[in-house]
Amino acid sequence: MDHTRCKEMVWAGYHKHQCSRKRWKDGYCKQHHPDSVAKRREEQTKRYEQRRKEAPWYRMREMQKLNESLKSENARLTKALEKAAEEAYRNEVVDTKMEEHIIGEGKEYFDKKDWVESKLIDWGY
Ligand SMILES: [Zn+2]
Repeated sequence: MDHTRCKEMVWAGYHKHQCSRKRWKDGYCKQHHPDSVAKRREEQTKRYEQRRKEAPWYRMREMQKLNESLKSENARLTKALEKAAEEAYRNEVVDTKMEEHIIGEGKEYFDKKDWVESKLIDWGY
């Protein structure tokens, strides 16, 4: 062991020999110091992650996840909207005793569904 040289053992073909670079810190050269090795590995991982995120299959999968969550959010909001329209029907038609005057054949609204649908249109849906 040459104590002026890096203590890392490196492969040369089938044999290992001491690294020939001069010592830098803690007995290692700049390239073989554990801190340098860890830093290089971290940068490699970062580059790999970056490339993975840019890959079409990865972005496609992200878009599918987003699509699924938007679909379920949409379903949830549609249900809430229908519930609100039903409530509006109770408040504006049933509770005001307008049902017999405005709902029915030949009247302003054919049936409850017709009223609810026009309410949804009023709200912009
Ligand atoms: Zn070295």
